[in-house]
Amino acid sequence: MSNPGATLTNCGPIPVRTTIFEQMSARAAANGAINLGQGFPDSAGPPSVREAAARAILNGPHHYPRMRGTDALRENLSAFYSDAQALSYAPGSEIVVTSGATEALASTILALLAPGEGAILIEPLYDAYAPLVRRAGAIAQPVRLKPPGWRVDRAALEAAVTPETRVILVNDPVNPTGRMLDADERAAIRDVALAHDLIIIADEVWEEVRPNSRPHVSLAADPELKDRVVKIGSAGKIFQLTGWKIGWALAASDLAARIAATHQFITFTSPPALQQAVAEGLATERAWLPEMRAEIEAGRSRLADGLRSAGYVVLPSEATWFLSVDLAASGIGLDDVRFCEALVERHGVAAIPVSAFFEGEGAPLNVVRFCHAKAGPTIDAAMERLQKARVHFA
Ligand code: PMP
Ligand code: GLN
Repeated sequence: MSNPGATLTNCGPIPVRTTIFEQMSARAAANGAINLGQGFPDSAGPPSVREAAARAILNGPHHYPRMRGTDALRENLSAFYSDAQALSYAPGSEIVVTSGATEALASTILALLAPGEGAILIEPLYDAYAPLVRRAGAIAQPVRLKPPGWRVDRAALEAAVTPETRVILVNDPVNPTGRMLDADERAAIRDVALAHDLIIIADEVWEEVRPNSRPHVSLAADPELKDRVVKIGSAGKIFQLTGWKIGWALAASDLAARIAATHQFITFTSPPALQQAVAEGLATERAWLPEMRAEIEAGRSRLADGLRSAGYVVLPSEATWFLSVDLAASGIGLDDVRFCEALVERHGVAAIPVSAFFEGEGAPLNVVRFCHAKAGPTIDAAMERLQKARVHFA
């Protein structure tokens, strides 16, 4: 699984690697394992959204929509964020619809970073960030957080800034830890961004996947930051449709224009039927969201309780579809990669080694991520296997 990657000597110095999610899903399939690795739920969004997509596939539109996204989706995104987070984005100039948050990240990073410029990346980090920064010819400037708290530290952020730094990339709620940043952490990011004139790329794809009692507070909600935050979202997370790949970048018009200029030569547009369905969902399925959150919370508790009673030490997690186990604290001597290999090969459960969310040497090797966004029976079946595995690893 270490997959150091081959270098294509005739294609430049970018190493060829397969993502940990793809690797683990392939191994789950090969071993007939229950896949708690790659993040995708058992369920598939509100039926009305899928029906809207089916109608649009039959009746159209079929041809290129506007490059920045269909009018309906941009208008409904604007209304949704106004109601849900009191954020104001003009549909005509401040919204760019992309092929998933991944493309929003790619378009934003390639648009805003020139070769030699720097981007602060907070570890553990989503796997696409550092490769995209390097694709832009820019420098990844990692700031490493420590388990079990995983808190953003102002001094560490400050220390990572160099004269080259242009951007700070923040994920909140955080994949893989399941944390939601608190007001102190957001203030630290704000102060460092303002002090050094940095743009904040706020990957907030998990904004709707958190407890009903804990509203998401966007970095873009801070009036001092609004014009320097690019806020990234994904219908894949909001409506549990991960394969649809409809995402967006929201930003002040000058930034949005730069992002759109990059997006036009990456994908140009995304399927209009899916944009239409997401637009309808944002308008009509608001009441589904709290139900979805309650279900996700139930899955989180079910897996966390099961793991705890089997003798695993579960780290705190409040948002996303993920929770983590501390192997060392659980008395398991294997590192995260070896544990995940043994778990998928011998015990039939796939998980993700959290060291995959770090760049370079010295990552913590004792944390493993599980996706809990599964139906009760899936979690129970996985727990049966995880219980046996716990006895085996003791
Ligand atoms: N950012 C984060 C933090 C994610 O967890 C994910 C997907 N799990 C993405 C971006 C990518 O989202 P999409 O599938 O919409 O490209
Ligand atoms: N973001 C998903 C996760 O964290 C996976 C997305 C992917 O496979 N690229 O599991």
